[in-house]
Amino acid sequence: MPAMNAFQIYKLLPQTNCGKCGEANCMAYAVQLLSGKKKLEDCTPLFQEPKYADKLKQLQEIFTVTDEVKETGLVFHEDKCTGCGNCVMVCPEDVAASHLIAGGKGSRVEGVVFRVENGKAKIIDLTKCRRMGTQKTCRVCEMYCGTGAIEIRSVGG
Ligand code: SF4
Ligand code: SF4
Ligand code: SF4
Repeated sequence: MPAMNAFQIYKLLPQTNCGKCGEANCMAYAVQLLSGKKKLEDCTPLFQEPKYADKLKQLQEIFTVTDEVKETGLVFHEDKCTGCGNCVMVCPEDVAASHLIAGGKGSRVEGVVFRVENGKAKIIDLTKCRRMGTQKTCRVCEMYCGTGAIEIRSVGG
């Protein structure tokens, strides 16, 4: 999910509070959209009215879910990340990629899932996550992230 708050999303919505999305108003919809309980398609005016085309384009860029996120179920909430580095140090793939990771904030090598940069974790390459394959049980990073910045959603495996 994007590193944006509901008000920032609200600013990209029609702000007419028409209720077509099933929510009482656009702000409530923004909250549901961020939590993944609503889809962009639920706000039909965005798609039907040409005057919202620019906003729709921006929202689509924000909410496009990559194939890697669909496959792993791993969603990173940057706004909740404190940059502690736990995810880097406990991820078996990151540790295997470079010994420099242990005790640090992440290796410079590219074959890692996470790295901490400028006080925030960053996903470098989600294709390195074990959940891309058959090991859907790995969720160590989520377990050791104390802030809820890493969320692993069920992907049916
Ligand atoms: S359908 Fe769109 S414009 Fe209407 S209330 Fe929901 S978010 Fe707002
Ligand atoms: S789920 Fe496992 S392999 Fe994937 S990033 Fe988290 S700790 Fe690493
Ligand atoms: S463990 Fe969580 S809070 Fe710490 S750097 Fe990783 S994502 Fe951020």
